[in-house]
Amino acid sequence: MSSIESLTTKIIEFRDARKWKKFHTPKNLALSLVIETGELFEIMQWKEDQEILTDINKLKPQLEDELADIAIYLLLLAHEFDINLASAIQLKIAKNSKKYPLDKKAEFEKDNVLSE
Ligand SMILES: [Mg+2]
Repeated sequence: MSSIESLTTKIIEFRDARKWKKFHTPKNLALSLVIETGELFEIMQWKEDQEILTDINKLKPQLEDELADIAIYLLLLAHEFDINLASAIQLKIAKNSKKYPLDKKAEFEKDNVLSE
């Protein structure tokens, strides 16, 4: 069993023990995923990137909380759709490797000011 499957099992057990399944429709789970992503953004709201990196130790507990919330809803949503997330991620990486081959990356960086 992968760690993703193991975590999903724990999350489902937690949910079912509290009889929350009836609330976990696909739409509600997707909405919750977006809401938790908003909470992640809230931690960084009005801060410059460098300020976030400088304050990372102070921010890390909040960031961990929100990333965990996002991951929990993501795993619940994948479970609801009967999607093997580990396989889906591996497939997507393979698709992205074809879509963005290394020679195109070098071409992009050569023309992109942000890469300096
Ligand atoms: Mg949260």
